[in-house]
Amino acid sequence: MAFDRSKWVWMNGELIPWDRATIHVSAHGLHYGSGVFEGMRCYETPAGPAVFRMRAHFKRFFASARTYGMALPYTKEQLADAVFRLVRRNGFRSCYVRPICYYGSDSLAVQPLKCPVEVAIFAWPWAPLLGVEKQTEGVRVTISPWVKFHSSMMPTTAKACGQYLNSMIALNEAVRHGFDEAILLDTDGNLAEGSGENIFIVRGGTVATNNDTDSILMGITRDSVIQIAQDLDYPVHIRTLRIEDLLSADEAFFTGTASEVTPIIEVDGRKIGTGVRGPVTERIQKAFFNATAGKEPKYKNWLELVVKTSSPRRSVRSTTGTGRARSGRTGIRNTVAD
Ligand code: PMP
Repeated sequence: MAFDRSKWVWMNGELIPWDRATIHVSAHGLHYGSGVFEGMRCYETPAGPAVFRMRAHFKRFFASARTYGMALPYTKEQLADAVFRLVRRNGFRSCYVRPICYYGSDSLAVQPLKCPVEVAIFAWPWAPLLGVEKQTEGVRVTISPWVKFHSSMMPTTAKACGQYLNSMIALNEAVRHGFDEAILLDTDGNLAEGSGENIFIVRGGTVATNNDTDSILMGITRDSVIQIAQDLDYPVHIRTLRIEDLLSADEAFFTGTASEVTPIIEVDGRKIGTGVRGPVTERIQKAFFNATAGKEPKYKNWLELVVKTSSPRRSVRSTTGTGRARSGRTGIRNTVAD
């Protein structure tokens, strides 16, 4: 998919045309991957486009920057406002939103010293990463020969640009061998995560996923799914997962902003459970999509409306063209709290 170059990008405080949102070849971030980023989704809801778990994403963005000693020159509120302006200006009903903060051009000494800290946010409509059909059919994965770096080597809980070479090499190798995705093990040989997803398994009606001690990024979809599974009365165990836990599971699935909730049906040619999407995965998926679509009152505070009203009681225009909707009635947030 090529990007639509007629769209707008928010860069260092301004909305600018897509083609002007460029950086210099000498930028530190390009050479050393010295940047942090986020990926969030804006979904169509009855009250208009709304960003899912934006505050959690910005919290992680700031934590990633702090981990690498980068001082973000904007507040969370300013960045939230930038996301809303960007989505509105581009006229998106739903899209993927990518904020990035990186060291710009000043010197190529490894220590960034005086390199400017630059921030950009752009967005585009993006289908589920592993394919919309795979959300029903499930994906076939392989255990990668490439190991996930340990948090003593690089902080796995930070979402930093250079860290993704580990994901890329694992994914390239998996796809080269005909698989949809790679699962990376940690340095102890336990499951870490997919190249861009967390892993869940289901066995005997219980749901399990691993933790930050297992070299994973603490996914926001993971967090949402843990809550959804608990609300559906499934016991959720947070523990180290071994390869045999995955192979003997009744069901398994990936979670991630880009891939959402995607069943895993085979690992290196061995079926997980019956080899099709399982009933627990399907129930959790359905609840997740109801939450992102603003159809589940319980999770309305996970959504931030892009078109805000000055008062929660005032109506907002529906961008779906189906009439008017009231943020007050729908209960979807229209303010950004910390
Ligand atoms: N692990 C990795 C390595 C990822 O890149 C992602 C995607 N951000 C995830 C897990 C899932 O995180 P989230 O649910 O916050 O998108």
